[in-house]
Amino acid sequence: MNSPKILSNVSLKPYNTFGIEVKANHFVRIKSPEDLTVIFNNPEFKRHHIILGGGSNVLFTGDFDGIVIKNDIKGINILEENDKHVLIEVGAGENWHQLVLYCNERAWGGIENLSLIPGTVGAAPMQNIGAYGVEMKNVFHSLHAYEIESGKMHEFSNEDCRFGYRTSIFKTSHKGRFVITHVRLLLSKTPAINISYGAIRHTLEMMGIKNPGISDVSAAVINIRSSKLPDPEEIGNAGSFFKNPVISETHFSKVKEKYPDAPSYPAGKGKVKVPAGWLIEQAGWKGKKVGNTGSHKDQALVLVNYGKATGSEIMALSEEIQRDIQNKFGIELEREVNVF
Ligand code: FAD
Ligand code: NAP
Repeated sequence: MNSPKILSNVSLKPYNTFGIEVKANHFVRIKSPEDLTVIFNNPEFKRHHIILGGGSNVLFTGDFDGIVIKNDIKGINILEENDKHVLIEVGAGENWHQLVLYCNERAWGGIENLSLIPGTVGAAPMQNIGAYGVEMKNVFHSLHAYEIESGKMHEFSNEDCRFGYRTSIFKTSHKGRFVITHVRLLLSKTPAINISYGAIRHTLEMMGIKNPGISDVSAAVINIRSSKLPDPEEIGNAGSFFKNPVISETHFSKVKEKYPDAPSYPAGKGKVKVPAGWLIEQAGWKGKKVGNTGSHKDQALVLVNYGKATGSEIMALSEEIQRDIQNKFGIELEREVNVF
């Protein structure tokens, strides 16, 4: 086995979709759990590291004086299969959208609504990625992860991960303790199509599709996302910067007094979810440029790098928006992006 090659003084610009220019003292690509053992044998690296997938949900605020470990563990294997289901195990470094296309081709349903989400399979459980009424937890079976402190592999079931709205134990109680190496998904050969979001129904209608299959839903999602979301290749961003806040119905009725058209969606007993993008737009931030950064003109929830922004500049803008939303609506916006 070849030891993983450790590079020094590496620019992280190609490795974060915000396109922030910072440097890491050391950088390594790992291709197996054994590579992790080699890296973490060095106590300095054990103390000071960042685990990176596709860098599509991170904001770097300065140079990093440790090692950046880029997950490159590959492979898609069928573990079990019958008439109804297929259980697959996927290397954490596989690209998420390529996996969706791979499953579409085989008519394995369950993740078609999650088409075109950037990043890796290993990062998907971190925040229980979600879009258009589907979350990864709906098809998640289990995962394997390397515990950094002990060097041991652990298995986590769906229940163990305590998935929530854009969260899991890997973002809360177990933050920074594990490297996810493999993810197992249970996909359906008789999929239930989810077109609960109006945008998908509308797009399928425009495409002239009456009885959609999973590839049609995937195509509709790709179509909507390509037309609405800024492409990180063209303009740096990390998708939604904040989560949609969930507030009490009582609180929301006060918002409604001032903004009768305020949108909301049910979010459990006595609670509603308010689109953060709407709040940011109402507060006048949509399309506003502040120095090298700003809120995107078509998607207020997406903060962007107009080319030369620093992470601190984007962070400062995000905090100003948070303060403004708190003052105007009494609502706290929680960051979704991981800041380093
Ligand atoms: P990274 O950004 O590399 O890492 C994210 C976090 O996970 C970091 O804290 C990192 O340390 C940790 N991490 C990464 N890999 C591992 C691992 N193997 N083990 C342990 N920790 C790890 N998200 C959604 O949920 N829904 C969307 O619809 C969506 N749309 C997006 C659209 C755009 C244009 C962009 C830029 C982003 C979008 N995102 C969305 C956010 C992002 O794509 C997802 O959160 C994605 O899962 C991040 O994957 P990544 O590999 O890039 O993770
Ligand atoms: P949208 O369709 O304009 O809707 C605005 C918000 O309202 C969404 O955030 C969504 O919440 C909520 N919503 C809309 N219809 C809903 C329904 N039928 N039931 C419950 N909630 C509903 O949203 P968008 O910004 O274009 O994004 C479309 C989807 O892609 C959303 O699911 C969004 O989360 C996802 N997305 C995520 C990111 C990211 O980085 N996390 C980036 C881009 C898009 P939810 O967000 O809870 O679904």
